[in-house]
Amino acid sequence: MNPEDFRRHAHAFVDWMADYMDNVQDYPVRSQIKPGEIASKLTASAPEVGEEMALIFEDFKRDILPGMTHWQHPNFHAYFPGNSSPPSVLAEMLTASMGAQCMVWETSPAATEMETRVMDWLRKMLALGEGFQGVIQDSASSATLVAILMAREKVSGWAANLGGLKECPPLTFYTSIEAHSSVLKAVKVAGLGESSLRLIGADDQFAIRADLLEETIEHDIADGYCPAGVIATLGTTGVGANDPVRAIGEICKAHDIFFHVDAAWAGSALILPEHRDMIDGIELVDSFSFNPHKWLMTNFDCAAHFVRSADDLVRTLGILPEYLKTVNQGQVIDYRDWSVPLGRRFRALKLWFVIRSYGVEGLQAILRDHIAWADELAGWIEADPEFEMMAPKRLGLVNFRYRPQELAEAEVDQVNETLLNRINDDGRIYLTRNKVGGRFAIRFSVGQTRTTEAHIESAWAVIKEIAQGL
Ligand code: PLP
Repeated sequence: MNPEDFRRHAHAFVDWMADYMDNVQDYPVRSQIKPGEIASKLTASAPEVGEEMALIFEDFKRDILPGMTHWQHPNFHAYFPGNSSPPSVLAEMLTASMGAQCMVWETSPAATEMETRVMDWLRKMLALGEGFQGVIQDSASSATLVAILMAREKVSGWAANLGGLKECPPLTFYTSIEAHSSVLKAVKVAGLGESSLRLIGADDQFAIRADLLEETIEHDIADGYCPAGVIATLGTTGVGANDPVRAIGEICKAHDIFFHVDAAWAGSALILPEHRDMIDGIELVDSFSFNPHKWLMTNFDCAAHFVRSADDLVRTLGILPEYLKTVNQGQVIDYRDWSVPLGRRFRALKLWFVIRSYGVEGLQAILRDHIAWADELAGWIEADPEFEMMAPKRLGLVNFRYRPQELAEAEVDQVNETLLNRINDDGRIYLTRNKVGGRFAIRFSVGQTRTTEAHIESAWAVIKEIAQGL
């Protein structure tokens, strides 16, 4: 494609992008297609000769778009948000144009130096305190994996990196039964095995029970295990619960155990001073991560990971083959040694664009609105005799169910599953499922960039309308 053709197509694409963002609410939120429908529209083999971009674009609009679930739809209330914003998209356009690969300082000095600076902005915005250094990972799952690898190396005296797991004492890790599945995946990937992970019970607020944690650690020590790491969650995926950071941190300090906090979703709320009570005890934390790609208007993927000892991180992941040596070795940060993959995208740029464009106050205002609208929704649910809350509302997350008087208890789960499926098939809003205390719950998360109070009001009307038609 020559530069003039690129310019022409790019202008047309930008027009389409602006219209898409403006009109995204006209699409069904969750894709309504059946499995295999999109695959049947894709040619079985690659074309031998190049095709016209105009034709490819038409095919995209006609055949591919119906197979997309619209995460940027203002009625997207499923999972946690994966919210984007116009400034973030503009930064991604520049990043893609430069096609930068930022594995070491020399391969894009600006990317490295901006990453350091923007992570420090975030450290201050979240009031994490002094002593943390940040790096951008692709996902919270990667941050947890890296934290577990650091814990493994530290507790084994750096033995596993050298001699493999056979050199380690039997290591154990601890997390809550409410923790995200990425913790289990991380212990598997780290070679520690599922049996190394202790799932600790939660209290009636769904937070880990620190007393049970301590008891389990002490039993393990008595049984000859070597407790290596605790992974706490701020904003659990199911109900948004917060584990008690200070109580866990004190247990970790007493037993010299590595402490990672996974705040994938709730971490963004730390830009609001009124929600900082959840990091009481942060000075006891070794590693902390949250996802700007969830609730900070920054395109997927972007996970902010802070560690107290960058030296330990680099000692865990560092490699230095001849072909990666540069003249500035040792005088600059080479982020390749801070993450599992060698190659790195220029993710700092979109954060820099987003934070500068909205300003901290602009981002705070958006999150405060989301939280206030979730409060309103919880209020409507509580006031409606046909519905009930299934867990306390946390930040922008609401768990509820349909519970009319006349419905037999044994039927409630099935009826709610049917209700959820009908809501999502309807296409106007998109919600997801949960189990709370073993019972089916409908999970409503408020956090999309384009959501307004009116969208929450109309979503509640849709839920009631479809429930009444059951
Ligand atoms: N941790 C928590 C608490 C989550 O809620 C999620 C995803 O929702 C994750 C980790 C995984 O995030 P990622 O997709 O960035 O790996």
